[in-house]
Amino acid sequence: METLHKDVVVVGLGAFGSAALWRLAHRGVDVAGVERQAIGHHLGSSHGQTRLFRIACQEHPGLPPIALKTLALWTSLGEQTGETLVRQTGCLSTGAPDSRPVRGSLEAAAAAGVPVSSLSHDELIARQPQYAGLAPGDVAVWDPGAGICYPERNVRAHVAAARALGADVYPHTMVTGIEADDDGVTVRTPTVALRAAQVVVAAGAWLGTLVPGLPLRPRRTPMYWFAPRDPASRDFTLARFPAFIWRRENGDGLWGHGSDEDFGVKVGLDRDEPQEAVDPEELDRYIHPGRDIDELSSVVAAAFPGLDPRPAKVIPCMVTDSADGQFVVGRVPGRSRLVVAGGDSGHGFKHAAGIGELLAQLVTGEDPYCAVDFLDPGRF
Ligand SMILES: Cc1cc2nc3c(=O)[nH]c(=O)nc-3n(C[C@H](O)[C@H](O)[C@H](O)COP(=O)(O)OP(=O)(O)OC[C@H]3O[C@@H](n4cnc5c(N)ncnc54)[C@H](O)[C@@H]3O)c2cc1C
Repeated sequence: METLHKDVVVVGLGAFGSAALWRLAHRGVDVAGVERQAIGHHLGSSHGQTRLFRIACQEHPGLPPIALKTLALWTSLGEQTGETLVRQTGCLSTGAPDSRPVRGSLEAAAAAGVPVSSLSHDELIARQPQYAGLAPGDVAVWDPGAGICYPERNVRAHVAAARALGADVYPHTMVTGIEADDDGVTVRTPTVALRAAQVVVAAGAWLGTLVPGLPLRPRRTPMYWFAPRDPASRDFTLARFPAFIWRRENGDGLWGHGSDEDFGVKVGLDRDEPQEAVDPEELDRYIHPGRDIDELSSVVAAAFPGLDPRPAKVIPCMVTDSADGQFVVGRVPGRSRLVVAGGDSGHGFKHAAGIGELLAQLVTGEDPYCAVDFLDPGRF
């Protein structure tokens, strides 16, 4: 079998890997990317047309600089290609004043100097008459720079940009082994071996299989789209029903956004209870009308009575949780030629380009543009 020599190989061209490929190629690095599926496919974690884009990220005060870097990179790439990679129509983080969406968004905004505004209970009701079942104390934080972004489109845009800058891309090519030695790393596939000084592994739900020892748990997470009960209603356009996360009084976490594009209103449900880990190779891709739909339908009926509570479309997806809910980005302890990016924990897409930039800086020895300790694989 032929062995090709590159400076860097990126394994997995989903959100993080495609961005790393682009940012490495941008620096003139001789880089190849290997992806087992088509580019922008629907079998990993980066499909389903949209993702929420938030800047005042409730998940960690260290995240806003990565979201802002992503915004800058996507805006510039979109200007070059003529595509919309992010739409900034704002996001409402709703719940009790000490709930994670409200407190976490305010803390992240304060830490990073991100402009947000607070809505009182009455202001929230006046602004979002689509919401029902707000608790008496519920308030909201408005993140005006937030909105939605586009997973398949943006992954394809990263890869197209990388190719134009000279990156080699191997779609439909499954990596079967990654072998590091003192002189370099060999990435094995059924058709080609690639030898490089460093390898970035961004294999999403499969990261724990390719790089054992990381505390990662993939889980099955279907995505749901709904239609207004009244087909003529304009209450659920993106402008009138912008991106939201809402921690309800009973602890349920709702998220989603309205739509004026050729897809429906997206609504999802998060529960804090532990979820079953899955083997991504064996993911159940069937949608079970009972357990997959009934629960969310009843929550949607109570929270957004203007929507038909039976989803118009459901498709499976996967989230890969890390042990602390933050991404895992950096060198693997004891395996210095291996850099990983994964553990998306359900909130990674909005940071994809910024993570790609951090990966490129790490590989080329540049100083990172923001603090990265909270993402270091060595923290566990
Ligand atoms: C339902 C749902 C809702 C979400 N909502 C949001 C949101 O609103 N906002 C947000 O920011 N994030 C959100 N996320 C999270 C976001 O989608 C993920 O953070 C992101 O897609 C993870 O990207 P990744 O690069 O880690 O994985 P992926 O994009 O899945 O990329 C991994 C790639 O590696 C490839 N691969 C695996 N094994 C191999 C191999 N052996 N050889 C070659 N290639 C391989 C896979 O085929 C895949 O293409 C959501 C996720 C889900 C599931």
